[in-house]
Amino acid sequence: MKTWDVIIIGGGIIGLSLAIALRKRGASVLLVERGEPGREASYAAGGMLVDCPLETPPSLQPLATASARMYPEFRHELEVESGMKVDLRDHGTILFLRKEHLAHPQFATLFHTVDFAEQEPALGMPGYKEEFEQRWSLKERDLETSHEEFAELFRFPFQNAFHVNERSIDPRAVTGAALKTARNRGVDISSGDPVTAINFSDGYVTGVTTTKTSFPAEKVVNCAGCWSAQISPSRLPTRPVKGQMLCLVMHPRNLLKYVIRTPDVYLIPRSDGRLLVGATVEEAGFDKRTDPPTIQRLHRAALKLVPKLADAKILEDWAGLRPGTPDNLPILGATEIPGYYVATGHFRDGILLAPITAQVMADVIEGRKLEYDLSPFSPSRF
Ligand SMILES: Cc1cc2nc3c(=O)[nH]c(=O)nc-3n(C[C@H](O)[C@H](O)[C@H](O)COP(=O)(O)OP(=O)(O)OC[C@H]3O[C@@H](n4cnc5c(N)ncnc54)[C@H](O)[C@@H]3O)c2cc1C
Repeated sequence: MKTWDVIIIGGGIIGLSLAIALRKRGASVLLVERGEPGREASYAAGGMLVDCPLETPPSLQPLATASARMYPEFRHELEVESGMKVDLRDHGTILFLRKEHLAHPQFATLFHTVDFAEQEPALGMPGYKEEFEQRWSLKERDLETSHEEFAELFRFPFQNAFHVNERSIDPRAVTGAALKTARNRGVDISSGDPVTAINFSDGYVTGVTTTKTSFPAEKVVNCAGCWSAQISPSRLPTRPVKGQMLCLVMHPRNLLKYVIRTPDVYLIPRSDGRLLVGATVEEAGFDKRTDPPTIQRLHRAALKLVPKLADAKILEDWAGLRPGTPDNLPILGATEIPGYYVATGHFRDGILLAPITAQVMADVIEGRKLEYDLSPFSPSRF
């Protein structure tokens, strides 16, 4: 009977990225997916690679920044190995903030307000740090958009606009390329059959049982997203957090260049002319249905922000289930059960965090010295 070094439960972006990382280090890997790989949260995501201290919890910031930096290489590798195109965009995000957000304690240290009339950002804010000037400042020249064009495009006071040097990626493309790369690298994949239990002998992991069969391995990693708690022998408090989105087709297809985030809605342009409009954050159990009034509300918010979208057709709408945790931080690491590991709970940042999660989890599983402090994400913290 075939055995594997590691079995990964769940074929979302987290399970797939980890499978590739472990395979690259020489491990034999079986990935067990109950449906089709890459069709759950990782398919539903917007793909903003948010690396902004106003939005990222401080303890997650080192991993978020590291992962954001890994993305160009991660994407390049997936494109080369899969032969598939992965749309990674680098124009940055325009963040529109309301006045009350400007009072955020971190704000003054992170951002420069823009005064278009002066051509230069207004400097001299207290606590200004040089590193942040490059990464989180808005300058008219960075935007390649004049004051007039900007005012014509957006119905939002441009005084409250900030440019963030973040990338965005098409999650469906990255997940599809990761699946093909995993296959090409020799990861075995079992799909269409859920894991129902993790098996033990004398307290050690011996594999998994599915509804049809059993697979043996000494190490098992739970990457089952918001379903992780259902198959965990230890107490894992993951829960589904629903997000509804819609997709418009822009005319012209490059109408919007930047990702736009406002307190009400975000817009993510793709290079092929699609524009994603998102997203709700709902406690609705495992219900993945969209509801028309909610989709209409998101649509209206997009049109209000960018009136030129009035002619843009709706291509599709959908909902996905983010893997939430009580403290909104991922759960990463070894559990107290020998051979049982967890990489889940990535909530709103799982696409962003996939490359770094794969790296740190492969280090944990191999017993290597860790580059990052994973204690805030410990499975035993709950
Ligand atoms: C609307 C929306 C917008 C988002 N936007 C962004 C964004 O802009 N940027 C960002 O970084 N993140 C975003 N996210 C979050 C991101 O999608 C998730 O954090 C990420 O996809 C989690 O990946 P995962 O692999 O852990 O989970 P999933 O992709 O859900 O994969 C888990 C897999 O486990 C499988 N599984 C479950 N139970 C079993 C079982 N018993 N046996 C076998 N397999 C099982 C499932 O079928 C599934 O395929 C968004 C999410 C949503 C819903």
